[in-house]
Amino acid sequence: MPDYAEQLRGAELRVTRPRVAVLEAVHTRPHADTETIFGAVRTVLDGVSRQAVYDVLHAVTAAGLVRRIQPPGSVARYESRVGDNHHHVICRSCGAIADVDCAVGEAPCLTPSDDSGFLVDEAEVVYWGLCPDCSTSQTSRSNP
Ligand SMILES: [Zn+2]
Ligand SMILES: [Zn+2]
Repeated sequence: MPDYAEQLRGAELRVTRPRVAVLEAVHTRPHADTETIFGAVRTVLDGVSRQAVYDVLHAVTAAGLVRRIQPPGSVARYESRVGDNHHHVICRSCGAIADVDCAVGEAPCLTPSDDSGFLVDEAEVVYWGLCPDCSTSQTSRSNP
């Protein structure tokens, strides 16, 4: 288990129980939404407020300890895998999300044919499809 207190100190954030609990919730539940994280934090810190969890998520995201992603059509999700420019594959049917390593290995993954003079440092790629569960159930429905 990572040392969450050490991570917080490294980011010059004061170590508090809600912060440690949020980091642990994000780490053990990749791509969880705010509600899921709030529920998980509540099981270890009874009485923590929703606003406190929002505030902690904001602070650890701003500090770079957690990455916030918001796929089109989805609520914001959080993950502890930061700084490696990985992408996501999302199931069109059930919304399941999985990590996809950066296709090139470093950001930006895609070079625009015309960057309009911008200094591009990131390309966010979302792969869409059907997760194994959903593709299996669709195949069995169409081929009885
Ligand atoms: Zn699915
Ligand atoms: Zn991810």
